[in-house]
Amino acid sequence: MSDFKKVRALTGMKDALPPESVQWEALEAIVRDWLAAYGYQNLRTPVLEHTRLFARGIGEVTDIVEKEMYSFVDPLNDERLTLRPEFTAGMVRAVIEHNVLYDRPRRVYALGPVFRHERPQRGRYRQFHQIDVEALGFPGPDVDAELIVMLSRLWRRLGLDDIRLEINSLGQAAERAAHRAALIEHLQRHVDVLDDEARRRMHSNPLRVLDTKNPAMQDMANSAPRLFDFLGEESLAHYRGLCARLEDAGITYTLNPRLVRGLDYYNLTVFEWVTDRLGAQGTVCGGGRYDGLIELLGGKPAPAVGFAIGMERLLDLWSQKDQYAHPAECQVYVAHQGEDGQRRAASLAEALRDAGLRVLVHAGSTGFKSQFRRADASGAAVAVVVGGDELASGRATVKWLRRGAPEGEQQESIPFDRLAEELQSRI
Ligand code: ATP
Ligand code: MG
Repeated sequence: MSDFKKVRALTGMKDALPPESVQWEALEAIVRDWLAAYGYQNLRTPVLEHTRLFARGIGEVTDIVEKEMYSFVDPLNDERLTLRPEFTAGMVRAVIEHNVLYDRPRRVYALGPVFRHERPQRGRYRQFHQIDVEALGFPGPDVDAELIVMLSRLWRRLGLDDIRLEINSLGQAAERAAHRAALIEHLQRHVDVLDDEARRRMHSNPLRVLDTKNPAMQDMANSAPRLFDFLGEESLAHYRGLCARLEDAGITYTLNPRLVRGLDYYNLTVFEWVTDRLGAQGTVCGGGRYDGLIELLGGKPAPAVGFAIGMERLLDLWSQKDQYAHPAECQVYVAHQGEDGQRRAASLAEALRDAGLRVLVHAGSTGFKSQFRRADASGAAVAVVVGGDELASGRATVKWLRRGAPEGEQQESIPFDRLAEELQSRI
């Protein structure tokens, strides 16, 4: 025994083993097809970025930047670095750095892990995964609507029917400034019910105070002046343009005037897709417009709108994933005897793979009985046997383990050179 103390995964960071990992891959495949149907292309950014990118891009006075980021100083060069807590800031950084928007707007997406130091619970982890979608350079509500229509297609594809849409408009900077003054006044009048965090944020980020989950502050939040009531004609027109297009697509929504989202950079449209099936962590997807972010991060001003889906929550909701509960390791399991048998089995397996089949060759030399047990456990449809008799006759013995056997038979004999064709057409 080694004296090494066993290492476990970090709290809130999960391994995914089969069959769960198979379900992840199935979900990712569906998601990639769905993104392609709307012309989105993959933009891959590093997991690690300069801390100041997130401080600026997400906002200093936010949960993420104040208390959830994994940040450290690189001891080799004293740079302050952070594991990405979300995708948007890094995507926008890359788009600016490579001048991606020089000739036309772009639709881009990313899939992958993000990191937040939160209290782990169902639907809330410290490493989790997002599907992040950004439409960059598009000003109009047509694209806001397209994103939402696109999401409802994904829910349909996955068979999710109890997920509802809430929307709001955060207007433009001047409208928020007018609302902000009224809101601070309201907060001051109710200062006795504010918790410490709310008091701290009352002046730096009063809108976020309304995003509170503290039950004692709900009445105060409900009676607060609504940003929606401060919107001017242009913002309202944008909002109405979105609503009309959602109605065209038959998508029901509710206006939630308290929806402000966790991040600082949103304007006009914000939305969330929420379910009651995941307990307290019911938000599956959040998004909205952030027309000022590209400029805020040093780029040429350009409008943008996007969303992020939490993949753990999506996977949790996706009950059809049960069809992958017993994934097969292969379609064909090749058993063999003797060194010649093993070598013939290996080359036969390559020919079967050429024909597109998924094939496992038994490794090592054990008796047929234990090889068949393995074949069965692998989930294969057939076991192909290559022993002394088969080598002599040039015909493999094929044992049907599940379905596809000829009437009344479990076993048949197929010439080596016809095996790939036969199995390919019948599995
Ligand atoms: P919440 O209010 O649940 O903390 P958020 O506003 O912080 O969510 P966003 O920053 O909008 O979340 O992230 C987009 C999506 O990522 C969320 O809607 C959710 O599905 C998912 N998500 C956020 N935080 C976590 C987490 N810690 N673990 C798993 N999924 C998460
Ligand atoms: Mg959060």
